[in-house]
Amino acid sequence: MIRKLVSLIAVVLVFSISLAAQDAKTVIQAASKAMGDVKSIQYSGTGHLYAIGQAFNPTSAWPQNNITSYTRTIDYNTRASREELTQVEPTPPRLGGAAPFAGELKQINLVNGQSAWNQTGNDAQPAVAAAEERQLQIWLTPHGFLKAAMENNATVKKGSGGTIVSFTSGKFKINGTIDSQNMVTRTETWIANPVLGDMPVETTYSGYKDFSGVKFPTMIVQKEGGYPVLDLAVTGAQPNASLNLPVPEAVRTAKLLPVSVTNEKIGDGVWFLAGGSHNSVLVEYPTYLVMIEAPLDEARSTAVIAEAKRLAPNKPIKYLINTHHHFDHSGGLRTYVAEGATIITQEMNKAYYEQVWKAPHTLEPDRLAQNPKKATFVTVKEKYTLADGGRSLEIYPMQGDTHNAGLMMIYLPKEKVLVEADDFSWPAGTRAGLRYHGNNVNLYRNIQQLKLDVSRIAPIHGTMVSYSDLQKAATS
Ligand SMILES: [Zn+2]
Repeated sequence: MIRKLVSLIAVVLVFSISLAAQDAKTVIQAASKAMGDVKSIQYSGTGHLYAIGQAFNPTSAWPQNNITSYTRTIDYNTRASREELTQVEPTPPRLGGAAPFAGELKQINLVNGQSAWNQTGNDAQPAVAAAEERQLQIWLTPHGFLKAAMENNATVKKGSGGTIVSFTSGKFKINGTIDSQNMVTRTETWIANPVLGDMPVETTYSGYKDFSGVKFPTMIVQKEGGYPVLDLAVTGAQPNASLNLPVPEAVRTAKLLPVSVTNEKIGDGVWFLAGGSHNSVLVEYPTYLVMIEAPLDEARSTAVIAEAKRLAPNKPIKYLINTHHHFDHSGGLRTYVAEGATIITQEMNKAYYEQVWKAPHTLEPDRLAQNPKKATFVTVKEKYTLADGGRSLEIYPMQGDTHNAGLMMIYLPKEKVLVEADDFSWPAGTRAGLRYHGNNVNLYRNIQQLKLDVSRIAPIHGTMVSYSDLQKAATS
């Protein structure tokens, strides 16, 4: 009897699964017919690009730049995409981070299969780490979504706003909403982010119009981590536009660069740890170590911690000092929590870290996800001195900063070295514009007001520099 019941359940289950697959096919085909099938599409418009993880304070939206021109061409058959855009910073200068620039910033972002690169003039720079997400973005567009759903055994269910079509492509789960007019109005997926974990990527499509017999939205808004990263008012779309995108040889053979950590002794028991786009500073105390900054991600933290243990063996890393919450400066913090370090940060950041670190990290599990533990914090809101066994450093929350509301600088009185992030990076010229000059001026003003006797600056970006270089930049 039980066996009969089990086989009956199995039959019903198989039947309902195939029915669901059939339903999905019908739904996708109806949408594809209503929207018009295309091999490729080109669309253009204007809008805004937002810098994820670069908010002025932890509770504000990603800061916005203007897109004055935007054209994207996608070939669904060859799995290739070319995105060309021009950004300008708003005037007056906005608050928040992301490399400031003067005038226009032109970008061409490309992907063809597993190869990604950026084009500046005739120069192609491999973008190995971006390939997976750029490929995924192709399948989040309205027509791309329907094609991927058809290929990946999608399922359907009723949901808010219409029929929800779901499938898995590689490690990504993708959902899309198809409304009563058979238009794709929304897609969603999750990608790995060092701070936010499995970060939601939601894109809404509205204002569908007919472009040469194919329906395409006139408004596109993409959000990551809950805030917009792109909004686009589409002014033109052309079905079956041609895209010829040969992969340059240097791009085809490019590999992810291994994490490199160099060390430069800048005082007794003080090392400047560089070797990549972001630096850290190691300070040795009699019975423990203090690290300033945990940038980027777990891979960077793991390599920097290994170098610290090599330079000053057999001492635990007791404190990690975090200059500000921007993701490129806080993406490696979770590794230090896993390592047992206490995080020293501006007081406004504690609640934010506690909240976002609760998110699941299933796409790229880090050490803290594998062995969860509660983070411990020391919060700073005015001058904080970390003195122990004859060694001392001073932490100053900065006043009047427009880059980040919770930015802190660190002063080593014996070495006369100031550690600062993003307000002054060396060599000069890598950052430019009014907004950056304002940061130079504000850093200089803070140092003057505190009457700090600084001889050298250890910036989190770039190389060690003398104080007179900041003086020149700030007073010119
Ligand atoms: Zn920053």
